[in-house]
Amino acid sequence: MALSSGEGRGIIMSQEKRKMTTKELTTAVHNLGQAMNHMSTLVANDIQQIMGVLGGVLQHMDLLETFNCPSCGEELSHPKLEGVVRPTHCPKCGSEITDDDLELVKSLTEEE
Ligand SMILES: [Zn+2]
Repeated sequence: MALSSGEGRGIIMSQEKRKMTTKELTTAVHNLGQAMNHMSTLVANDIQQIMGVLGGVLQHMDLLETFNCPSCGEELSHPKLEGVVRPTHCPKCGSEITDDDLELVKSLTEEE
């Protein structure tokens, strides 16, 4: 039984559709790339909108912690919610944000 099923698979393999030509492949990849770009733009816009709304709600509820990147000064916000991990790196300059940095920024802003 095992042998005959193996042979059957071999026959199906040999009946496979012809391979795409390089030109067809290039066109297909190009189209796919464009579709992906379009989709990622749409998704990025949606996420930006969601983050904006979420940020507003969190700020309204006083659940948003705002601090500045110790390296580039970019204003970063982080929801004060359990289970939400604070970013460890600045999304703008990529420098590491340590707890010490945050404590320092906090103490500086509290003094003002
Ligand atoms: Zn930074």
